[in-house]
Amino acid sequence: MAELNGLEPRDVFGHFLALSAIPRGSGNERGAADYVAGWAADKGFGVRRDGLSNVVADAPASKGYEGAPTVIIQAHLDMVCEKDGGSRHDFTRDPLELYIDGEWLRARGTTLGADDGIGVALAMAVAEDVSAVCPPLRLVFTTDEEVGMGGAKGLDVSGLAGARYLINIDNSDEDEVIIGCAGGVISDSRFAADRVPVPEDYGAVFVSVSGLAGGHSGGDIHLGRANANVAAARIVNELYREYDIYIKEVTGGEKDNAIPRECSVTLFAREPGRAAAAARAFGRVIAREYAAADPGLTVSADPITVSDYTALSPDLAGALTAFALLAPCGVISARPSDPSMIETSSNIGVIRAGSDGALITCLSRSYSESRLADTAARIRLLADALGGSVSARGEYPGWEPDPGSKLAALFAAARERLTGRRPAVRSVHAGLECGIFARKLPGLDMVSVGPRAEGIHSPNERLFIPSVGRARGTLASVLREIAQEGGS
Ligand SMILES: [Zn+2]
Repeated sequence: MAELNGLEPRDVFGHFLALSAIPRGSGNERGAADYVAGWAADKGFGVRRDGLSNVVADAPASKGYEGAPTVIIQAHLDMVCEKDGGSRHDFTRDPLELYIDGEWLRARGTTLGADDGIGVALAMAVAEDVSAVCPPLRLVFTTDEEVGMGGAKGLDVSGLAGARYLINIDNSDEDEVIIGCAGGVISDSRFAADRVPVPEDYGAVFVSVSGLAGGHSGGDIHLGRANANVAAARIVNELYREYDIYIKEVTGGEKDNAIPRECSVTLFAREPGRAAAAARAFGRVIAREYAAADPGLTVSADPITVSDYTALSPDLAGALTAFALLAPCGVISARPSDPSMIETSSNIGVIRAGSDGALITCLSRSYSESRLADTAARIRLLADALGGSVSARGEYPGWEPDPGSKLAALFAAARERLTGRRPAVRSVHAGLECGIFARKLPGLDMVSVGPRAEGIHSPNERLFIPSVGRARGTLASVLREIAQEGGS
């Protein structure tokens, strides 16, 4: 513990350690909101808190800089709660157990919550530094970011009107300044249960597609990796050509925002041994296609024994196969202004089919609002045509990059002065709360930045300790420049 208390910069890590002792999974941010609101009141800052536990604190400018443009510093209070299989950690009650691993900070058996506790702590540290030269600040601490950005969506921004800049501290690569992000929408396509008995002389076959690299359905979508759900649908479709098969159940993928790494299909065939061999053979064809981009892809298929001889009706099985093969999936278009960047993509993240019917979940992303809507509309049309019904959820807007962003230029220059390295100024094909602020407060000049973290959203999450001081230094330097430039 003494070691943790010695982490530098002290002010940032002091707040981060305090936040780490407060359970703050998405939907359970009340304690963390108490902490930041109590801190702001102690400092004499104006503080507002809403029914969603969002907290906005107004930190005045340094004396003499009251006329400088107002800067919003924004971070989210909630964290993803993931733990190792063997961990007994209770995310509703227990403090995180932090430890130092070389130059990294980690939490024992759980996510660390540097995403985004370190962003909250950085904002607090620069706002309370009385020795710094600072413009007027609005600290915005939001909730529910990790499960649909409900805090930012519900935030009343009337107190933020008039601000010129917004610094979102929720990026995990210190060598980047983010100036744009894609919007997203999730489409759940549901198909009603429709089952038929399977002839008794059929045998069951278990087909499994596994070993895929997977990855983030935004950040990794351009890598050309396989989608396990689509690969499984291709195998089923291939079997349909020669074998009389029934589909019993399908389980593919875990999350809408992850490229699925596994998909299994239990089916019945009149000649299970031959059907299994055909599935394996076609699996090798697919594996060859992905030998470079996804070399771990493996297809196994073996006859198994099952007791329940019912399956999806041939109509339903055919509809699901068609859906998985025809729904937009992977990269859909590049940015017309910069073909090296993905503009629109979609991911068939989850397929579940069995005795309760079927659900196929797609997450589509685009920088373009109209192309995002178009992608969702195609999914809806397809599901309608195939007898399903679609509901959309979790929509969030994109943030159109402004290559002329003054704030981005300030960050890039400050970073280069401090570290000798010029950061990449770029957009991300993933969602950030900035898109919501861009829509609510048009004209804001925004960036997303942050220290270096890896393995976020997993128990391997770790924060690179030396990057925190650099992030604090860069942030303070940019704030000083904004104050001095626009101050009296
Ligand atoms: Zn985050």
